[in-house]
Amino acid sequence: MATINSVRGPLDTAELGFTLMHEHVMLGFAGVLPNYPELLGENMMEVVVDDLKKAKAGGIDTIVDATTIDLGRDINLIAEASRQSGVNIIACSGWWMDVPRFFEGISPDQLAELFIREIEEGIAGTNIKAGILKSASDLTGVTPAQEVVLRGVARAHLRTGVPIMLHSYSPGQVGKQQLAILNEERVDLRRVKMDHSNDTTDVEYLIWILEQGCYLGMDRYPGRNVSPQARTKTMKALIDAGYADRICPSHDRLVLRVMADNPMITEEERLRMNPHGFLYMKKVVFEQLREMGVSEEIINRLCVDGPRSFLEGA
Ligand SMILES: [Zn+2]
Repeated sequence: MATINSVRGPLDTAELGFTLMHEHVMLGFAGVLPNYPELLGENMMEVVVDDLKKAKAGGIDTIVDATTIDLGRDINLIAEASRQSGVNIIACSGWWMDVPRFFEGISPDQLAELFIREIEEGIAGTNIKAGILKSASDLTGVTPAQEVVLRGVARAHLRTGVPIMLHSYSPGQVGKQQLAILNEERVDLRRVKMDHSNDTTDVEYLIWILEQGCYLGMDRYPGRNVSPQARTKTMKALIDAGYADRICPSHDRLVLRVMADNPMITEEERLRMNPHGFLYMKKVVFEQLREMGVSEEIINRLCVDGPRSFLEGA
């Protein structure tokens, strides 16, 4: 039993319930909501609350909102969405990949102090505290600027005990670089979750990550490049290898996002790929697992035990 920071205040981990470990209430860029709200579409709060209420009614108790400041995090929007929908939301500190040029010369310890304040005191002048830390690297590997952020995240973790989620590029095994840096910072890798791990079907690599002690975010559904079926097949292989307790299935879904005139994926296409919103996991993925022969007992634990033990650090 432990208490963690949710956007509505301290939350007993016994109350986490069914938890999606990597989602986004809103995703854009730093400052998008106060400055250019029209980019996020009309009736924002209604859209978000309606979406989250459907999730809650379908049995989703908690989501981790993986939106950092450079992705447009607006803590008041997240907190209000949680209050009105009843879904627990864990907010995120740290940084994604949009590291500003004015970070040049900034030290890991300087960044750690900022992140620690968001965890211990509150975000953006509120008393709403972050419950998880994030760092990101992608297909170019860990860049020098991202390394400073990652070390800052590591040090904030060591001071606060709040766990770390890593945006990673699994097809390029970038997790190996990220973990080498966290090892140098003496982070216990059992407090680290390697996200976007189902963007690869390389089970050998994923087991290597698990063997370092990490949790795995199987958190892109339906996702691109790798089919949903292939993603679930990979998850099944990891379950069969005995790692069900450290797998965190999620969608990386954006409820509100920048509504571009010329989007890469049209609204119709998006709905066709996932008509279930946050319930895609239960309605599609769990059904695939059943068909593949995974037991009800394991399916029932998948979005419950892993998230809980990761967040409480048991
Ligand atoms: Zn994400």
